[in-house]
Amino acid sequence: MSKPPFWRTYQNQKDLVDAIRSIVNPQPFDTEFSAPLISDFILERHYFCRHRSLRPTAFKKTREDSPYRFYGEFQSFGWHPVSWRKCVQLPPSARDILCRALRDRTLVSKSNYRRRHPICEACGQSPAVEVHHAEPTFNALVESVLAVTTLAEQESALATWDWFRTEAFSIPDTHVLAVRFDQLHARARLQALCRCCHNLTKSSTTEAKRSGES
Ligand SMILES: [Zn+2]
Repeated sequence: MSKPPFWRTYQNQKDLVDAIRSIVNPQPFDTEFSAPLISDFILERHYFCRHRSLRPTAFKKTREDSPYRFYGEFQSFGWHPVSWRKCVQLPPSARDILCRALRDRTLVSKSNYRRRHPICEACGQSPAVEVHHAEPTFNALVESVLAVTTLAEQESALATWDWFRTEAFSIPDTHVLAVRFDQLHARARLQALCRCCHNLTKSSTTEAKRSGES
């Protein structure tokens, strides 16, 4: 069986990048142009636009960055910087985005925990530099929450994502996904570790996964 194309008729990333460059590079700065190929590519592959069905209808490049800053014009809100280059990498899934936002929710309690446990709880000797989720693991916490969350609830969490805010996407505290996660997380056991013991935990988790124990 032959390899599926990278995107549409483009066999690999390079073919598509070359095609887009051949459209964008000859364009003069600060001048609007249309390019249905790039519009479609952004609609389907951009990390934000794909979740909101946003299809830019025109483009321009400015000298704000080198070689240029790329703008798309969107029907609902006008011009906004949009990188076609970033769309070449496979975008994170909705699940990846929610997972990262849930991880961010744990940062404050982890750093509070570390302040209360300055010495590694595994070897009892070295200063603690990391706090990890000992029981259950962070991934298990996320699994349990997602297992009882409907797709519509996950989508409604993502719907609060605002492209105009510069800080990373976070799930509102009152959203059911955040409430459920916080409840489970409050009962999770954390462990403060030194660098060396933390690395050991990571490699034993990887090994456990490899041998199918987890
Ligand atoms: Zn240690």
